[in-house]
Amino acid sequence: DLDSAAATLPSVSKSNIERRWSDITSYATKKKVQSWFQLPNGNWELGRIMSTSGTESVISLPDGKVLKVNSESLIPANPDILDGVDDLMQLSYLNEPSVLFNLQYRYNRDMIYTKAGPVLVAINPFKEVSLYGNDYVEAYKNKSIESPHVYAIADTAIREMIRDEVNQSIIISGESGAGKTETAKIAMQYLAALGGGSGIEYEILKTNPILEAFGNAKTLRNDNSSRFGKLIEIHFSETGKISGAKIQTFLLEKSRVVQCAEGERSYHIFYQLCAGAPRALREKLNLMDVDEYKYLKQSNCYSIAGVDDAEQFRIVKEALDVVHVSKEDQESVFAMLAAVLWLGNVSFTIIDNENHVEAVADESLINVAKLIGCDNAELNLALSIRKMRVGNDNIVQKLTLSQAIDTRDALAKSIYACLFEWLVEQINKSLAVGKRRTGRSISILDIYGFESFDRNSFEQFCINYANERLQQHFNRHLFKLEQEEYIQDGIDWAKVDFDDNQDCLNLFEKKPLGLLSLLDEESTFPNGSDFTFANKLKQHLNSNPCFRGEREKAFTVSHFAGEVTYDTTGFLEKNRDLLHLDSIQLLSSCSCHLPQTFASNMLNQSEKPVVGPLHKAGGADSQKLSVATKFKGQLFQLMQRLESTTPHFIRCIKPNNSQSPGSYEQGLVLQQLRCCGVLEVVRISRSGFPTRMSHQKFARRYGFLLLENVASQDPLSVSVAILHQFNILPEMYQVGYTKLFFRTGQIGVLEDTRNHT
Ligand code: ATP
Ligand code: MG
Repeated sequence: DLDSAAATLPSVSKSNIERRWSDITSYATKKKVQSWFQLPNGNWELGRIMSTSGTESVISLPDGKVLKVNSESLIPANPDILDGVDDLMQLSYLNEPSVLFNLQYRYNRDMIYTKAGPVLVAINPFKEVSLYGNDYVEAYKNKSIESPHVYAIADTAIREMIRDEVNQSIIISGESGAGKTETAKIAMQYLAALGGGSGIEYEILKTNPILEAFGNAKTLRNDNSSRFGKLIEIHFSETGKISGAKIQTFLLEKSRVVQCAEGERSYHIFYQLCAGAPRALREKLNLMDVDEYKYLKQSNCYSIAGVDDAEQFRIVKEALDVVHVSKEDQESVFAMLAAVLWLGNVSFTIIDNENHVEAVADESLINVAKLIGCDNAELNLALSIRKMRVGNDNIVQKLTLSQAIDTRDALAKSIYACLFEWLVEQINKSLAVGKRRTGRSISILDIYGFESFDRNSFEQFCINYANERLQQHFNRHLFKLEQEEYIQDGIDWAKVDFDDNQDCLNLFEKKPLGLLSLLDEESTFPNGSDFTFANKLKQHLNSNPCFRGEREKAFTVSHFAGEVTYDTTGFLEKNRDLLHLDSIQLLSSCSCHLPQTFASNMLNQSEKPVVGPLHKAGGADSQKLSVATKFKGQLFQLMQRLESTTPHFIRCIKPNNSQSPGSYEQGLVLQQLRCCGVLEVVRISRSGFPTRMSHQKFARRYGFLLLENVASQDPLSVSVAILHQFNILPEMYQVGYTKLFFRTGQIGVLEDTRNHT
C-alpha cells in the first residue's frame, strides 16, 4: 500500500482528497504521462501509458516490455525536468516511488545529500566522495555553493545561534551503518573550522578516536559500530569562537565485553592494546595475543579489513595526551583493560558435591589481582562466595559454577563500563568551558536509530523508546515550522493535523501501569521472572491499542516506525544490572586508584530509588537505579535540553546491507525513509499545504491559460480565476496574504497543462 500516506490523512476531508488524488491518477492516465509501476520484486519502474480502457492501462517499460495493468496501481511520476531536484519538496508528486527515484538519481551521481523540506537526508556512499575539505568549507562559508550538505546544516546552525541568540542542535539518526557517526564528525569539522582559533577545537576533534576505541566495535552491520549514544555540546564565545565542550553518553552496551556473536568483535580498544602496546607495557600487563583471551576468542574474529589496530593504538594514546589524560592514568586505564581480559580467563573448580566452586589460582587470577591491586585470596572469595544477611545473621553462601561465572562476568562488565564513564569524565574536565562560558552552544546528537530485528531484547526496547521520544520532538518541530508560516500568511491552520505518537509514549511511561513502571516493579520482586513480567504486561496493558501480548514471553509494541515484537528473556536481569556488594567492596579495597573510584561511584549511585530482588538484598546487595529508569531520566534531561534549542535534523540512510559502494536497494531505502520519518515529513506536508507560490508568480505563470478575460487584472483575481477554471477544489488550497498554498499534486496538473499548451 504505497500510497498509504494519502489514505491516513487526518482531520482534513479524506474522501475529497482521495477523490482528488484519483483524479490526478486518471488525469495522468488520460494524458499518458509517465507513471510508476511496481514490479513483482517490489522495485518501481517508470512506464509510459500507451492506452487506457476501463480500469486497465497498457504501459511500456524502458526495456521495451509492454504490460497490461490495473490503472489504479499506477502512481503518477514527475516530469523529467524535476529529475534529481535537491529538495524533495520541489517534486510535484510526492509519492514514495518519486522520492525513492529522486534520491537514487542523485546517489548515482555522488550527490549523497538531499533536502526533504527542513530535513537533510544523507545516503551512505561507502566510499570516499570529494565533498569535504577546506575548499568545500570555504565554499559553504561564503555561500558560493547551495547544494544540500552537512556543512550547510552546520553553517545554518552557527548563523542562527549568533543571529537569534538561541542554542542549536543537530540531531542525527539512522540505522546502524547508515553513517551517523561519520556525519557527526563532518559537522564537527565544519564547526571547528569556523569556530576554531583557541586550539580547543583540536582537543574536541581528538575525543572521537578515543570514544570510538572504547565505545565502538565491529558488528555484522558495521565494522565501526557505536555501541552507545552520544551528545556533544560545543560551546561558543560571544565572538563565535569555540570555548569548550561537554559530552554525555547513553547506555553503553556492556554485555559485549563478555559476550559477542560470531563474526563480531568486542570493543576496538582491546585489540588495539594487544596489537599496539610497546614491549615494556606488554610485560607490565602480562599481555598476550588476542586469541589467548576467552572474551575475545569466542566470536572468532580478530581483525577488520583495512584497519591496523596497532596504528590505531598509537592514535588513541596521542589523543589521550591531547585531552590531558596523564601518562600515569593512561597506564591505569590499560591495566583495567588487561584486568578485564584476564578476568575472562579465570576458571573455577568444583569443591563439593553441591556444585560449589572456587577460582583456580592460576596465572589469570594472579594477573587480575595484580592489575587491580588486591589480594589473590580476596579476589577468589569475591568470585566464589556471597555474603548475605538473613534476619540478624550474616551468612556466607557458596556460589555454584554458573553463579560464579555470572559474578565474574558482572565484575568485568562493571569495570569496563566504569572505565568508559571515567574516561568521558576526564575528557569533560579537559574540555570544560569553566569561567570562559559566556555564549551559546551547538549540540550534536549521534544516537542509535529505530531497531527491529528477528529477535528484539531489552536493548532494542530502550533504543526504540528513545526513538519514540525523538520522533515526537521531530513531529512537533516540523509542525511548529509549518504553523508559523501559515499563521504569518493568515491561512486557516485548523485544517492541518498530524499523527501524534503520544499514545505509544504513554504506553511506556504511564505510572503505575506502563511498560517501564511494570518492568521496575517486577524487577524488585523476589520471585519476579521474565515470564511473570510478560504475564503482568498482558494482564494490564492488553486494552492499550499500541500493545499486544504474544505467545509465551513476548509482547508487541506498535511504534511509529512499525510493530516490534520483544522477547522478555533477560529483561529483568538487564534492568537490575546488579553488581554484588562483595564485588564492589573488593574494588574499594584495591590499592589502585581506578577501582577505588569505580567502587565509590557505584556506591553513590545507590542512594536513589532502589531496584533489586529484595530477598537477596537485606542490606547485602547494592541497590540502585534500574537501567530503564536511569535511561528514562537521561532521556528526559536530553529532551529538555533539546527543547530549548533550534533543531536541525539529519537522517542517514544505508543504501545496502553489504557496506558496499554503488548499490541502492529500493526496498531497504524505502523502509528506512519510513522509519526515520522522512516519509512522515512528506506525509505531514501532504496533510498541510506544501506548495506555495506568491500571487504574482502564480498569475504570471498560469494566467495565459485563462479562457475568459478577468475583469480585474490584479494578481489575486487572476489567480482565483485560474483556480476556478481548473476546478481546483476549495479544500485543496488556501489563499494567504501574500501566497497561495496548495496541497501536493495540485500544481502538477497546472504545470502539465501549461507544458502541453
Ligand atoms: P552505528 O549505529 O552502527 O554506529 P553509524 O550510523 O554511526 O552506525 P558510521 O559508523 O558513521 O555509521 O558509518 C559506517 C561506515 O560507512 C563508515 O565507517 C564509513 O566507512 C562509511 N561512511 C559513512 N558516511 C560516510 C561518508 N560521508 N563518506 C564516506 N564513507 C562514509
Ligand atoms: Mg555510529
